[in-house]
Amino acid sequence: MKILIVEDEEKVGRFVERALTEQAYTVRRVATAAAARDALAEEPFDAVVLDLGLPDGDGLELLREWRAAGFNEPVLILSARDAVADRIRGLNLGADDYLPKPFSVDELLARVRSLLRRHAAAPRATVLTHGAVRLDLLARTATLQDQPVELTSREFALLELFLQNPRRVLTRTVIAERIWDAAYDLETNLIDVYVRRLRLKFNLPGAEPFIRTVRGSGYQLA
Ligand code: CA
Repeated sequence: MKILIVEDEEKVGRFVERALTEQAYTVRRVATAAAARDALAEEPFDAVVLDLGLPDGDGLELLREWRAAGFNEPVLILSARDAVADRIRGLNLGADDYLPKPFSVDELLARVRSLLRRHAAAPRATVLTHGAVRLDLLARTATLQDQPVELTSREFALLELFLQNPRRVLTRTVIAERIWDAAYDLETNLIDVYVRRLRLKFNLPGAEPFIRTVRGSGYQLA
């Protein structure tokens, strides 16, 4: 379980980092909204602990962006602000829970555990669709305009990753980690080859590629 901590107060950040690390969570800690944006674009996280008052932006704005981009993992808001309005705004923007400062280690761990447990228990879609593309995760079948498309298991996994993150730019690093367990030399163009194969199999004649290249970043579902 990998958790991103976004907290600009060094003392609080270290406190949270130590508490989570002692519970064997893998932790990455950043102190600005910009670094948080980068972190989430670079690697997958299972949960985010998010402070609201950041030196270069508002945590709630960050949360709004992430939810709009299809990031579905649980987010625990951490803030000195105890105003009810902030709390409600955070929950409306897709936060899963809210922990007012100051808090104890036990409170923090209880919230994080409960978030991860609830998230794991939530029912997941078993059929993913995007335009004319349909992926059945249980039957392990893919169709384009109701016509079956043969996929290798890697192609299936890659298409699933795109359909699970419909609005997110997937970097080559993220794709390599998810599909090749990072045991993959990023110097090679294997990911590009697989994306090209998916395009060949799922592009409709005359249409724009259903996976577009985001120059310098990676790929995104069109
Ligand atoms: Ca702060």
